[in-house]
Amino acid sequence: MRQPLVAGNWKMNGSLASARALLAGIRVGAEEVTATEIVVCPPYILIPEAQAQLTNSSVAWGGQNLSVEAGGAFTGEIAASMLLDHGCKYVIVGHSERRSLYGEDDALVARKFAAAREAGLVPILCVGETLEEREQGITEDVVGRQLDAVIDLEGVSALADAVVAYEPVWAIGTGKTATPDQAQEVHAFIRSRVASHNTTVADGLRILYGGSMKPGNALELMGQTDIDGGLIGGAALKAEDFLAICRAGN
Ligand code: PEP
Repeated sequence: MRQPLVAGNWKMNGSLASARALLAGIRVGAEEVTATEIVVCPPYILIPEAQAQLTNSSVAWGGQNLSVEAGGAFTGEIAASMLLDHGCKYVIVGHSERRSLYGEDDALVARKFAAAREAGLVPILCVGETLEEREQGITEDVVGRQLDAVIDLEGVSALADAVVAYEPVWAIGTGKTATPDQAQEVHAFIRSRVASHNTTVADGLRILYGGSMKPGNALELMGQTDIDGGLIGGAALKAEDFLAICRAGN
């Protein structure tokens, strides 16, 4: 039985004041969410605030990115150990915005995944195709390649301590959600790809859907056999919407 997980990716949004209000709302509302594990991933600079507000609550927190380096002369970077030091449990790796805007390729994403695990963080590995790739009919090639980069470097057992998020790039921040059938098809493909290496790891792997998930579509998406929760962008910035999505996993 896989516990549903809903993670909020705040991206580069929020001030100290707005983060305080959002975290307080989530902390209180989360008390009514029993079945779903909840995670928030604020910008780095707001992580200490998340730690201050969420310690001793049921909500975990994490980073949106990390460096492959352990420390040293890497201006602007954040090491896995620094995230751990601030109580992070999770870290997002390979978000499509990192891949497309900051040139992170499959090899670098796999190294970030490895750095996260080595430090004891749980990576949330994002995979997904662009609209062009979907229209070319190569969704499974793309997602399979992104997944294989990690499996080849780390071995399939590494996925036992990780989460995968299927995020069709064309659905992120666009208001266009994959239909439950479209999403389920790719989630089932991801699980079968992992199962071709190890069925136990595949059965236990939580695969989140991300891409314009909102209170109105969360229940149907999360009702699909292979959808174990969501990675939420825009709707994670309003406590009420985020909590409604979390309750859909209950
Ligand atoms: C995301 O960026 O991970 C995401 C899913 O964004 P949104 O929910 O806004 O589409």
